[in-house]
Amino acid sequence: MQTRAPEEPEVREFSAEVVGVDDRTVTLDHTYFYAESGGQPADRGTLDGTRVADVQKGEETVRHTLASVPEFDVGDTVTGVIDDDFRTYCMRAHTASHVLYGAGRRLLEDLGYGGFDISGEKVRVDFTTSTDIDDETLVELERLTNRTVWDSRGVGWEAVPTEEATAREDVAFNTKTEEGVMDDADTVRIVDIDGWDVAACGGTHVSNTREIGPVTVLDRSNPGEGLTRVEFAVGPSGIDRGADRHRALRETAAALETNVDDLAETAAAIRTERDDLEARVRDLERAAVSDAIDDFETVTRGDTSWRLGVLDGVDPNDAGEAAKDAVGDSDVVVAVGGDERPYLVVAAGHDSDVHAGSVVDDVTDTYGGGGGGGPPFAQGGGLDASPDDVLDAVRAWEPRE
Ligand SMILES: [Zn+2]
Repeated sequence: MQTRAPEEPEVREFSAEVVGVDDRTVTLDHTYFYAESGGQPADRGTLDGTRVADVQKGEETVRHTLASVPEFDVGDTVTGVIDDDFRTYCMRAHTASHVLYGAGRRLLEDLGYGGFDISGEKVRVDFTTSTDIDDETLVELERLTNRTVWDSRGVGWEAVPTEEATAREDVAFNTKTEEGVMDDADTVRIVDIDGWDVAACGGTHVSNTREIGPVTVLDRSNPGEGLTRVEFAVGPSGIDRGADRHRALRETAAALETNVDDLAETAAAIRTERDDLEARVRDLERAAVSDAIDDFETVTRGDTSWRLGVLDGVDPNDAGEAAKDAVGDSDVVVAVGGDERPYLVVAAGHDSDVHAGSVVDDVTDTYGGGGGGGPPFAQGGGLDASPDDVLDAVRAWEPRE
């Protein structure tokens, strides 16, 4: 005996004879409780006033697990009451997944059903498709789904011979639902949304798409190879999420002193402006470092002119680039920076007879830290000395013989 829920999803109260009681597990001669299957959760409700905690399919029966051991026994007639709010939510959410799949048929290539799940907060549908579901496609899926809800298409279901169903190219098979659908191997349940989608499905559905109400697409992800998951919400949680988004859009538009319609354009313009400003600030910083190097103390030794000094608040890499830019063919530029564990950069012109790497090696030999480089440029850092000590060491530097 299978559940009658998919066939008569509007039934919320029924009488049945108890055919088995095993501790808290009860079987009936027939039931309208939906047993968890194919991504749709088990119904909630009561049997003779005792809460039904779970409903699962057994070999030949539907097993109702109660919250406590029942007072009734085999042979008794009991009243089953199905929780209307939860069942109605599941029917609407489940039918919405078919409508979404129908939207997918119109937008996605190589489409197949990869799975489906209903929770109290949201519903997920996994598509197998070669189409990249980008933002535009995701929004279009939502628009087509809501449009189909509005179009008030009839939803019907019937058992058809399995051979006939599997031969039809227009029927979507959810491999997970299929297990439930195929329990009776001779027939398969076909759910048909008029002119929109046909699927083999054993769940409970509303009889017209308008009963679904607004559908809010939440997100998309890739849970596995070739699978795209689309999550959406129906009912109060979907309405609340839609309102949250509307609020966030308006707050963002207000913060950017524009309106929602111009938001994307305004955000792009602000980003361009920010990039321009960043580039300008970088240029100004570079110019400031270059000016600071121009003001360095000059020491002449032999034919080589050394420019030495301390740079405040300049990144070692920026200092290095500035020193390379500033150095002439026959001179040497040395910049020291950083408050704790200072760095130094040395740029030597190729006619200067100074090996920048040797200067840095000698300073790090004296003050620790690390670094190195070649004849034209070297840098060191992590020195255990003040910047002035480092400059003194460079002033006294002599090439090794
Ligand atoms: Zn279904």
